[in-house]
Amino acid sequence: MIETIEPLNKKPSVPAPALPFPLQPLARLSWNYWWSWATDGESCFRDLDPVIWEECGHNPRFLLTRVSEYRLAEMATDPIYLARVAKLARDFDRYMTDAINWSNAEGATPITAESPVAYFCAEYGVHNSLPVYSGGLGVLAGDHLKSASDLRLPLVAVGLLYRKGYFRQRLSLEGWQEEVYVDTDPAELPLHLVQNEDGASLTVEVLIRNRPVRAQVWRADVGRVALYLLDTNIPENEETDRWVTGHLYGGDRETRIVQEMLLGIGGVRLLGKLGIKPHVFHLNEGHSAFLTIELARELIQSQGLTFAEAAKQVKQRAVFTTHTPVAAGNDEFDVDLLTRALGVSYEKELGLSHEEFLALGRIDAVNPREPFGLTPLAIRMCRSTNGVSRKHGEVSRALWQKLTGDSRVERVPITHVTNGVHAPTWVAPLIRSLYETHVGADWPDRLLRRNEWEQGIARISDEELWAAHSLLKARLVAFIRQRSFEARITRGDALDHTEAAKKIFEPGVLTIGFARRVAGYKRWNLLLKDAARLRQIINNEERPVQFVFAGKAHPQDGEAKLVLQQVAKWKYDLRVRDRAVFIEDYDHEIARQLVQSVDVWLNVPRRPLEASGTSGEKVAINGGLNLSILDGWWLEGYDGTNGFAVGDANDDATPQTITAAGNPESDAGDAESLYRLLEQDVAPLYYDRDVHGLPRRWIAMMKRSIATLGPEFNSDRMVEEYARRIYS
Ligand SMILES: *Cc1c(COP(=O)(O)O)cnc(C)c1O
Repeated sequence: MIETIEPLNKKPSVPAPALPFPLQPLARLSWNYWWSWATDGESCFRDLDPVIWEECGHNPRFLLTRVSEYRLAEMATDPIYLARVAKLARDFDRYMTDAINWSNAEGATPITAESPVAYFCAEYGVHNSLPVYSGGLGVLAGDHLKSASDLRLPLVAVGLLYRKGYFRQRLSLEGWQEEVYVDTDPAELPLHLVQNEDGASLTVEVLIRNRPVRAQVWRADVGRVALYLLDTNIPENEETDRWVTGHLYGGDRETRIVQEMLLGIGGVRLLGKLGIKPHVFHLNEGHSAFLTIELARELIQSQGLTFAEAAKQVKQRAVFTTHTPVAAGNDEFDVDLLTRALGVSYEKELGLSHEEFLALGRIDAVNPREPFGLTPLAIRMCRSTNGVSRKHGEVSRALWQKLTGDSRVERVPITHVTNGVHAPTWVAPLIRSLYETHVGADWPDRLLRRNEWEQGIARISDEELWAAHSLLKARLVAFIRQRSFEARITRGDALDHTEAAKKIFEPGVLTIGFARRVAGYKRWNLLLKDAARLRQIINNEERPVQFVFAGKAHPQDGEAKLVLQQVAKWKYDLRVRDRAVFIEDYDHEIARQLVQSVDVWLNVPRRPLEASGTSGEKVAINGGLNLSILDGWWLEGYDGTNGFAVGDANDDATPQTITAAGNPESDAGDAESLYRLLEQDVAPLYYDRDVHGLPRRWIAMMKRSIATLGPEFNSDRMVEEYARRIYS
């Protein structure tokens, strides 16, 4: 719907009608994002008024203010609907009153409600209606909170509330990306303004650019987990400072550093004010690394320690996850910029000279030309550093060997915890009900017990699985037609092209999804390397293929925008336009539509730059098959029977080819491998049908994929692993 571009703050002119009493549980439910992964949660809200549900961006708080009095009365007298609402409310109450009593295998745990994990991240992708994420990192953080909640691991999270969030994407007629920023109105969202005991709003203050900047704090409830979001948009602040939490990754370097100061320093001060004494601080990516020096500063000020003594204590309490496999991807700042933002009083309070302070953020402590990096700071100040897949752990050890000074790369103390996804969030309701029936109502628990999971999946019949998948594909085709039609008519495309949107795609055709950030290493153009051959694959008479694309380019990445424009123009080609489509404005919701419904998910990053990747994991849990380069999580997941591997696992890009524009040789080899797989393996397998029209061997592979990948690549396993190996 176009509505997604409209601001959400169109206040109704008349007060919202009161909720009839049998519907009142909906109000309570709307205040906790738990509904978004509960069975029947989303559908309970949607069915209240499906049209308004779409218009208000799937935001239940907003929905409840917009539904008409008559519609409310109608639903309040529908016994079947009321029973569903009552059940949802009961499930929620049971979920929330279960004690938080996480324990590890040994029984005892130092992580308690009084001393929880404090999780810090610059972005959170909890739900589409909370626009404080841009992509993979945020979605991973959102999934982490949900699993911590489900596992009853005591955890609080800290982030920023961006006034304008991340940009919304549109494509011009020529295929160029245009960015639109939309206001976020906290009043429309399930956000509680955190208050002091006296009822005034609680604020934290950080000296930024030598001015005190204050932030108020919002709390979003994600199941049992509290997510605190700092917000500088308050009248006490100078106009510029109100924009510290303006855009997510939209501003210049200076905006970035002041945001990171607020997150790290302000976040620690917030937890202090709330009386929370974390057992461990988890820095999810280096953006929050300033929290380590704030912890040191507190110790120095309160206990008179030296910096070295304080740093030692901080190190006992902080752990760091790195997400970037290239030096250039790490956050670094010019010394002048850092000094301007942080001022000089801060380093004095740490008892450090300017050079000593700068050395904390340098790989080579005494190189005055080196900028200040948050990854070096985090690695130095944390007791544990980990990458996000086995391969990425390896790459990170090589990348940071110079900093740790270990003579042998295997000795560099960087480990890995492979990323996973939150199954109840990503699995389609229709597939979920198969799991409930055949694995059990407690399927998310059984997902962690490989044998039970595999046995459950084996009980699903080919017919049921294929029927469910086919229905989801029909939904995808309808979704694609609707979104494309709306985008084309809004953009002013030629009428024949606009009308053609209603006929594009066919549910019976092999459907391949490719949706990810448009960044050089993701190699969006690999598929188009031989356009004629691709056309033949797409238009093969017996075995046609259709492609759905989505993804945003970073606003400042001109090269990526050019690549995007090429793809966008290519799909106007009359010879492919009914079987290739680009869906604008890739987000959490579009991701859900795609990963739940495609037959195949394509990923062709330049090895070894895909730190982990998670979207393919979302596809696997829904029965889709991965067709991917052996990198990141897929290098661990692929076993020869559960999907397709593109290219050769041994020709990694070297640091030289990583920084250069690319590696033409491996690109050519990987493109050839990809075309050949599509022609000789993927399409033939998909179209190999029995007398009932069922692709038995394909379905067998779907089941292999669900059975083997589910237990490993989910966020319950991931969070459990963090708790056991990293937090405790
Ligand atoms: C899962 C997800 C991602 C991450 O996908 P990758 O596989 O890492 O590219 C990015 N954006 C959205 C909206 C997602 O849901």
